[in-house]
Amino acid sequence: MLNDASTDNPEEPPSSGRLHSLKMFRSAGRGPWADFPDADWNDWHWQLKHRITTLERLQQLLPTLTREEHAGTLLANHKLALAITPYFFNLIDPTDECCPIRRQVIPRIEETNTAPWELSDPCGEDSHSPVPGLVHRYPDRVLFLVTDRCAAYCRYCTRSRLVSNASGYDFHPDFDRQIDYIRRTPAVRDVLLSGGDPLLLSDARLDELLGRLRAIPHVEFLRIGTRIPIFLPQRITPALCAILRRHHPLFVSIHSNHPRELSTEVREALGRLADAGVPLGNQSVLLRYVNDDPIVMRALVHKLLLCRVKPYYLYQCDLIAGSAHLRSSVRRGLEIMEQLRGHTTGYAVPQYVIDAPGGGGKVPVNPEYVLSRNADRLVFRNFEGRIFEYPEASDGTPRQKPPARIPEPELV
Ligand SMILES: *Cc1c(COP(=O)(O)O)cnc(C)c1O
Repeated sequence: MLNDASTDNPEEPPSSGRLHSLKMFRSAGRGPWADFPDADWNDWHWQLKHRITTLERLQQLLPTLTREEHAGTLLANHKLALAITPYFFNLIDPTDECCPIRRQVIPRIEETNTAPWELSDPCGEDSHSPVPGLVHRYPDRVLFLVTDRCAAYCRYCTRSRLVSNASGYDFHPDFDRQIDYIRRTPAVRDVLLSGGDPLLLSDARLDELLGRLRAIPHVEFLRIGTRIPIFLPQRITPALCAILRRHHPLFVSIHSNHPRELSTEVREALGRLADAGVPLGNQSVLLRYVNDDPIVMRALVHKLLLCRVKPYYLYQCDLIAGSAHLRSSVRRGLEIMEQLRGHTTGYAVPQYVIDAPGGGGKVPVNPEYVLSRNADRLVFRNFEGRIFEYPEASDGTPRQKPPARIPEPELV
């Protein structure tokens, strides 16, 4: 176990051996697929075709499957499907029932427990959907759900209501309605492609989709949210990178939760994206016994920087039905943030956010650094707990006349 959840105690100092092993880059290896040619193993279509999707196959490959996992897998395909790529499966430690990789992708019977405050659409996305497959919650940007499929399924998926087994959502193959909405909504300057996983689209469809969005004059900024670099690094081909670089400025947000996910295969895939000029961010979800531990989180964010990825958000786990066994406390999340800010590289520190239940959007939550403030001064502490004072302008307005506005370059 990574920590003692019952007490929420801060972690005792690690043995340096554990920290070292968390920071090492290793290959996932071939595991049970040693007999297949390299050309197959490295082919993303082969990886998809050979995904583990049934209880029988999972039992064959993982004889240590527990009763809870067995029962959970039996029920999984009625809700969120089971799917694990062979590559990602090889990252599982079969001897460790609490393996942080295993907990993310192998169903457990606890998925059938639903607390009263848990929902199927915890972030109220459906109520902010002007056309199917598009969520327009913030003034200047939209979330564009381009597919309901992923390379593998995270057991805590915030969109389990619509991925894998579909649910009457209109993933119109031509994306006409969604693109039309963006075209006639000039406030939208930022389009975030998500799903499902957009990088499951073929190169040709992705190129066409990005091209159609780029052709809209008010769309300045494109983003892709994807876990494919982690689940299926074989998908990040030179051909895909060549397509992405044609549609700049385009950022990619990946999703990794544990340092062991950052294998040599992943580091190389992320390197190809970075070399194509794609700025990379990471979104993690705070997960119980996976990464709710300052030592694990610090190893993760440091490894991300080595892969040229900026840790972007750390999400408090959404109140998705059947996810309580994977959810850690906000108190724990704040303790982890406290152990990052100031203690390590600022670039390595993500913003901890809660996606407000019911549809308020992402709200930052931070450890308290301001101890008191009044009209005259601010008292605050630093990461070491030392106390400082800073004077406040007495009535909140500057004492002197502000400098004249700096002229715009074209007016000079
Ligand atoms: C997360 C999210 C975005 C993007 O938010 P950023 O803070 O800009 O990364 C946009 N729309 C929806 C509905 C989202 O959930």
